Amino acid sequence: MTLTKKPETRPTPNSWGLAGGDNPFDYAPAPEATDHVRIEPEYGLFIGNEFGSSKPRKTFTVINPATEEPLAKVAHASKADVNRAVVAAREAHRSSWSKLPGRERAKYLYRIARILQERSREFAVVESMNSGKPIKESRDVDVPLVAAHFFYYAGWADKLDYAFPNREPRSLGVAAQVIPWNFPLLMLAWKIAPALAAGNTVVLKPASTTPLTAYLFADVVRQADLPPGVVNIITGPGEIGMELVTHPDVNKVAFTGSTAVGKMIARAVAGSDKKLTLELGGKAANIVFDDAPLDQAIEGIINGIYFNQGEVCCAGSRLFVQESVYEPLIDKLKARLSTLRVGDPLDKNTDVGAINSAGQLAKVQELVDSGIAEGAEIFQPDCELPDRGFFFRPTLFTGVSQSHRIAQEEIFGPVLSVLTFRTPEEAIEKANNTPYGLSAGVWTEKGSRIFKMVNAMRAGVVWANTFNRFDPTSPFGGYKESGYGREGGIHGLGAYLDLSGANGR
Ligand code: NDP
Repeated sequence: MTLTKKPETRPTPNSWGLAGGDNPFDYAPAPEATDHVRIEPEYGLFIGNEFGSSKPRKTFTVINPATEEPLAKVAHASKADVNRAVVAAREAHRSSWSKLPGRERAKYLYRIARILQERSREFAVVESMNSGKPIKESRDVDVPLVAAHFFYYAGWADKLDYAFPNREPRSLGVAAQVIPWNFPLLMLAWKIAPALAAGNTVVLKPASTTPLTAYLFADVVRQADLPPGVVNIITGPGEIGMELVTHPDVNKVAFTGSTAVGKMIARAVAGSDKKLTLELGGKAANIVFDDAPLDQAIEGIINGIYFNQGEVCCAGSRLFVQESVYEPLIDKLKARLSTLRVGDPLDKNTDVGAINSAGQLAKVQELVDSGIAEGAEIFQPDCELPDRGFFFRPTLFTGVSQSHRIAQEEIFGPVLSVLTFRTPEEAIEKANNTPYGLSAGVWTEKGSRIFKMVNAMRAGVVWANTFNRFDPTSPFGGYKESGYGREGGIHGLGAYLDLSGANGR
């Protein structure tokens, strides 16, 4: 599909509010240093606290999406390697981890959290180099949340009886965990921290484009002196993920990624006694009422869809604006969009970094093309994009109707579709008209309206007068095709425990 209309554009103003290029006081580049980071030329599989090559020895190359330069080679696991990793995890569960008192497991988790804090700069830089996300996000959001998750679940490890009164909480055994590329380290933490706190051992498969912080985490596992086999990390393509989740000696499967793969996994483990949680895609509605503080809402809308290049399962990708404030809001939004800085993820001023892969960039472009072809109006700031790397201009579509693909499908890129409504009932009807149900946002100054909307939205998380806020204490998960089960909070702990036994019975 080709572009049929030229997008409306606007020059990017600089920090002084003047048109781009006219002002000598524009931001100078502020690149984060990389000299404190050591990326190995090659990473082997991490099994039983040892790095080793896959058997037979096979590797694939991981690149930096902002430069398209290779970063490292990583091992391509075989079916036999999956088995080795599960055997190591089973043995660790049997011989050490499940026997440790909760307070001892907690010590390890606290140690991991503290090491992550100490090494936070290194993790933030590698995460940005490998995923394309801006350094200010990996430094200020991802890595602090990762440490917070380990601290939080460390606190629960010796209190499982209090968390689930009148039950006899028991670990499940070996957890198989498959994670995506949009928050590589954060998804690792969401998976590993509750699993270990509950007394399970894990085998984790990161996404093939973003395994580097997982292997850096493996180094933290060794530094924290975890018993061998408690955490195992293997890399390889989707088939290896499937081998892992269907391995007969796995007790728990946790997956975050696309709805299509989530459905395949659900089918594959159906009929087994594996416990399953799925955190899949989304097409969140962000609803702005006419009494909302507009400037605050603009920041929430921007954060909702352009944070992490829009590669966020809970991104506020459908904006619903009450008709009476439509024009002022769109004006403000276009002006704000034009101030976003797109470019080098390692530059501390960058707001929108690189799309994670050429494949994902092509998917975003294809959906944007469909929006134009179906008649929506496109707006993009006239910012310069780097010559190399997978970059995409922050994009806004107006004149979108409910049937457009850009209003229905998960784009997973920096693309916002704007729709309008007149009454709260219409907003609810339109917002819930999606196969997904992961998150939503409501902007209004009326508390009663917030309660009405929150109860009516078929979404696992609803933010009020904010968006994309995460906290380890807060459960996260979806309705409908966004998956099932919850991660985070006490609910996330329960997903890694057998709670069928009752005290005194
Ligand atoms: P996938 O769902 O394919 O990948 C997520 C993880 O699952 C990766 O580790 C991947 O491995 C693995 N995987 C792939 N195929 C299988 C399989 N058959 N069995 C088991 N594991 C498998 O997402 P994509 O990376 O392909 O992204 C496609 C779309 O999915 C995106 O455009 C976006 O819309 C959505 N998505 C949603 C996410 C979310 O958080 N909800 C996260 C990522 C994507 P490998 O990397 O080796 O392929």
